[in-house]
Amino acid sequence: MDVSHIIDSLNPEQRKAVTAEAGPLLIQAGAGSGKTRVLTHRVAWLNQVEGVSPFAILAVTFTNKAAGEMRARVEELLGSSVGPMWVGTFHGLSHRFLRMHWKEAKLPQAFQILDSEDQRRMVQRTIRGLDLDEAQWPARTAMWYINAKKDEGLRAGYIRDEGDPTEQQMIRIYDAYQTACELAGAVDFAELLLRALETLRDNEEILQHYQARFQHLLVDEFQDTNAIQYAWLRLLAGDTGNLFAVGDDDQSIYGWRGARVENILNFDIDFPGTKVIRLEQNYRSTATILNAANALIENNSGRLGKNLWTDIGDGDLITFYSAYNEGDEARFVVERINDHIHAGGSRSDAAILYRSNAQSRVLEEALFRSGMPYRVYGGLRFFERMEIKDALAYMRLINLPEDDISFERIVNQPTRGIGDKTITQIRDVAREAGVSLWHASAEILSANALKGRAATAVGGFMTLIIKLRADTKDMPLNDMVEHIIEHSGLLAHYKKDRTDKGEARIENLQELIGAAGMPVEIPEDMPDMSPLDAFLSNAALEAGEKQGDEWEECVQLMTMHSAKGLEFPLVFITGMEQGLFPSQRSVEEGGIEEERRLCYVGITRAEQKLYLSMAEHRKLYGRDHFNTVSKFISEIPSEHLQEIRPRLNTTRPVMQPAQRRKEVREDNVTGLSVGQRVRHGKFGEGIVTDYEGQGAHARVYINFEDVGAKWLVMAYANLEVLNVA
Ligand code: ATP
Ligand code: MG
Repeated sequence: MDVSHIIDSLNPEQRKAVTAEAGPLLIQAGAGSGKTRVLTHRVAWLNQVEGVSPFAILAVTFTNKAAGEMRARVEELLGSSVGPMWVGTFHGLSHRFLRMHWKEAKLPQAFQILDSEDQRRMVQRTIRGLDLDEAQWPARTAMWYINAKKDEGLRAGYIRDEGDPTEQQMIRIYDAYQTACELAGAVDFAELLLRALETLRDNEEILQHYQARFQHLLVDEFQDTNAIQYAWLRLLAGDTGNLFAVGDDDQSIYGWRGARVENILNFDIDFPGTKVIRLEQNYRSTATILNAANALIENNSGRLGKNLWTDIGDGDLITFYSAYNEGDEARFVVERINDHIHAGGSRSDAAILYRSNAQSRVLEEALFRSGMPYRVYGGLRFFERMEIKDALAYMRLINLPEDDISFERIVNQPTRGIGDKTITQIRDVAREAGVSLWHASAEILSANALKGRAATAVGGFMTLIIKLRADTKDMPLNDMVEHIIEHSGLLAHYKKDRTDKGEARIENLQELIGAAGMPVEIPEDMPDMSPLDAFLSNAALEAGEKQGDEWEECVQLMTMHSAKGLEFPLVFITGMEQGLFPSQRSVEEGGIEEERRLCYVGITRAEQKLYLSMAEHRKLYGRDHFNTVSKFISEIPSEHLQEIRPRLNTTRPVMQPAQRRKEVREDNVTGLSVGQRVRHGKFGEGIVTDYEGQGAHARVYINFEDVGAKWLVMAYANLEVLNVA
């Protein structure tokens, strides 16, 4: 058989991994060295050369986008669809498993998935239900606690009570929240994994079936597996131990969610006879980018250590831009992308990365204004929009009347005269009787416990839902969505809003009809799953990622976390500011090494050109921040960096007259030296402690008495020299 398409394009070490005999194998290698490539080629090798059935292969990774790419690469090699092979994310595969074994998992067949916003509301309701002070027990904190416990595999009843009253209260909230979820048939993201693991562990027959079925397990980004995911892999691997794991300790970025790098370090203890392969050639990035990344990560201790090289050549220097605010930064990014397009490049070459999701808004605005199509990954953008959530809530409630979250969302949306008092009454009955809001409403109505108008309104709502269900029963999905949007009154409701926003909402609803018209993926081995179930689960699981295939032509925006495993010719890392990246929290809590690994991940996404940028002044979460440059910039050797100054014709920020921009002539810029005392319009007096670059590109590092040390671009720092050193 001709295997050249599988192994020809591999180097000798990669080939060794792809063609290895069965048994545990660990590939421990740096960014861009071909780990994912090796994994996908291994799948093809197993199937086409070793004759392993697709049915017996499971390949798993972390993000939907990475999983999508993995599937595409495998299909290309196989020349056919992956068929019954399980290729996906941990969450996606767990979900698939639970849909098949909902009975054993003790879930309703049409169980719903809570996205993080749904979950937050549910936790909030729980906290209210327990009569706790919401200011003292914020829903987010409790949600964080619950998820962390679930990630460790701990149910409320199993958490050791050490007498700490705060923790005791958290345990109570966790317990009550879980009860509410069970009642509503709702499963949050962490629950998907935990429930799948428990179901597998507690059902001998199912476990044996899957252990026999999956002869080969392959896992990408292994450094980020948490306790549950690892336990799940170990259970499935059983005695065969055919686990093919690829990972990079330097890219471990989920410690905060319980990921355990130890899984890499202890691999050969859990899987005796493990073969370890290292890959050292990077095929992705220019030497400049790779060397910058290597130098940065050198600052971490406790690494396994590796030696990555490339023969791609130096390429361009990395550009650093220090903007005066976030708007200026966004404009800079858009202009560089425009330059790239004018030089014949494609929009989809460019990825804009940031530390936190909230940073995307300003970037989105700038892209939008310049008419540049873009897509945001990893967020729940599309499906988190109000009107979309409304429409989905109708669909969910029609599908499963016990879905309390959806009930609450739409019981009075559009308004139908059901006030807070009535809803509270329904909620109380539901809580006392331990039933869903839907059933509570029915009970209240039949007991005539509501006053005239309220009774009519609640009755009307229930009739509407029942009628919608009956009317759409045999409709194809897109007709169903259209019917629901129209007859629920949502369309008329949003049409009343004649602003641009209202128009956009109508367009979004139309987009939802369109999305429902696309073929929904129903896994081959789950023929019983209804298209509606598949669609609703997708909406929660893959939110924002299923927006047609036009993403090819879009600029891509994502957090550095969701960029893991991906690569782009042109990469922008924005917000390189102390306190943002590395984040304040990480600096305070000693998590700086994980932040540095995240920076390493960001830098190593770039193939040809990397831009780093910061904003000296940033409004974020409604607050003003005056920033100094990220410590990580100074960890990149200056020979790889080139700094450019803001365009001189950018309009001056009206807010800060003191920060007047002034062009400094090249010849007098170098007039500063270390130790000199200077005054800055905004930051006050300080001492020059360092400088780099020349002429208008020069930057000085000044230790200000009031605001601490900052890098400033000479060209517009407008410094007054106070004494000569
Ligand atoms: P990361 O750590 O970021 O996940 P990785 O180790 O998984 O990276 P890949 O994404 O598999 O790396 O490979 C990086 C790039 O190098 C890809 O474009 C891949 O196609 C290419 N590549 C890998 N190996 C080779 C090879 N032997 N010859 C040519 N190109 C290669
Ligand atoms: Mg990879």
